[in-house]
Amino acid sequence: MSGTYLGMPAFPKAAAESTQDESLRANLRHATHTIRDKRAKAVAELDDWQQLRAAGAAIKNRTLRHLDHYLVQVEAAVTAAGGQVHWAADADEANSIVTRLVRATGESEVVKVKSMATQEIGLNRALEAAGIHAYETDLAELIVQLGKDLPSHILVPAIHRNRSEIRDIFRREMEHWGRPAPEDLTDDPRALAEAARLHLREKFLRAKVGISGANFVVAETGTLVVVESEGNGRMCLTLPETLISVVGIEKVVPTWQDLEVFLQTLPRSSTAERMNPYTSTWTGTTDEDGPQTFHLVLLDNGRTDTLADVVGRQALRCIRCSACLNVCPVYERAGGHAYGSAYPGPIGAILTPQLRGVQTELDASLPYASSLCGACYEVCPVAIDIPEVLVHLRERVVEGGRVTIRGTRTTIRPAKGHAAERAAMRAVGWMFDHPTALATAQRLAARTRRLHPKRLPGPGRAWTDTRDIPAVPAESFRDWWKRTRPEGDPK
Ligand code: SF4
Repeated sequence: MSGTYLGMPAFPKAAAESTQDESLRANLRHATHTIRDKRAKAVAELDDWQQLRAAGAAIKNRTLRHLDHYLVQVEAAVTAAGGQVHWAADADEANSIVTRLVRATGESEVVKVKSMATQEIGLNRALEAAGIHAYETDLAELIVQLGKDLPSHILVPAIHRNRSEIRDIFRREMEHWGRPAPEDLTDDPRALAEAARLHLREKFLRAKVGISGANFVVAETGTLVVVESEGNGRMCLTLPETLISVVGIEKVVPTWQDLEVFLQTLPRSSTAERMNPYTSTWTGTTDEDGPQTFHLVLLDNGRTDTLADVVGRQALRCIRCSACLNVCPVYERAGGHAYGSAYPGPIGAILTPQLRGVQTELDASLPYASSLCGACYEVCPVAIDIPEVLVHLRERVVEGGRVTIRGTRTTIRPAKGHAAERAAMRAVGWMFDHPTALATAQRLAARTRRLHPKRLPGPGRAWTDTRDIPAVPAESFRDWWKRTRPEGDPK
């Protein structure tokens, strides 16, 4: 791993390589099956789970419809509470705002609590280029950073590593970043956690600047919320003198009452817990308590464009629980790196091509990184119809058409390499529009059925290498209907 998503191959190529890695597949299978079984039990405890799910979807839909209003409310509330709000249209702007803010403190080190938004914009790389070292403090993120790796899962970024690999990384790398790992470090989980705790404590006590994300922003009070399991986040949010939070604009919820719904659904969907071990909330600044300077960077980076798409916008409801990853048969085999984005799995397959567009080969391949089995939709706590969005985006890839880019309606061309698919769909469309031609084709296919090949030639060969072509019936349905129903009998 190079530590960057730039220049990664399209999903089929990356997945073809990762599925050859038996240890990766074993690690993923073990972890996803354990989490998914626990989640199912935690969810089954609630009689009103489906109502909570519907409530979560409704709250998010309403908020997204009036996002302009709620964002202005957030800005006013954060400012009134002593914070400063910055608006970032894209990754470059967000990175330069954060770099400028850190430089203004005169510091060259920051501690970070896990934030997908900063992963999305490549903040660590941008800070490094400016001579600022960012230290990840979430345990799994620390493992990823020390291993010069990339996250492979939304919630468990080091899911692709087993215990002995983690021990080796700690032994090899910790000394280059701060306090070394103990010489006799074993792969016992408690020993690994203790080594990380001692290593990180040094960083927490020294850092003057903290950088965080947020799971939610409550508009009515301008309060940010982080939910986590380790308490490292809370150290990061309270010890430094300056706190900079980088948050996607879709994280807004209007009221505390709305938040209550997600504080029930998120822990059960993600870690199968009834409630979260640590829920930290902060509102602006408070005299002599916690960071004395607070900056909120509100990140767009393709979210407004996504909002303009009436089918695709439901991806913005996502609360990053990762339940869809843990049930996805494609993710389980390919792993998170194959998706070439901070957002892997089913949610990544619909979010990334909307945030980044489908112009590159990698992004155009993502809507196909699914078997459309629908398991992701079944588990999603905010009822995102992921298969519906996947099909919608496949149409965009194949046909091109009207989309919104940087707020302007524009027409994009079809992605390369889908000519055969496009021609086949047009032919099928024409056939369904002409019932007589369809009936003739069906009869012809029925009469010649014994001559049909078992494998397709040319580009279709790869498809039939792993599937049988469905047999054509001896008689079409409409012919059977005519034969078995007397003339004039509609039943
Ligand atoms: S799409 Fe749904 S299931 Fe997947 S991470 Fe987001 S909220 Fe969770």
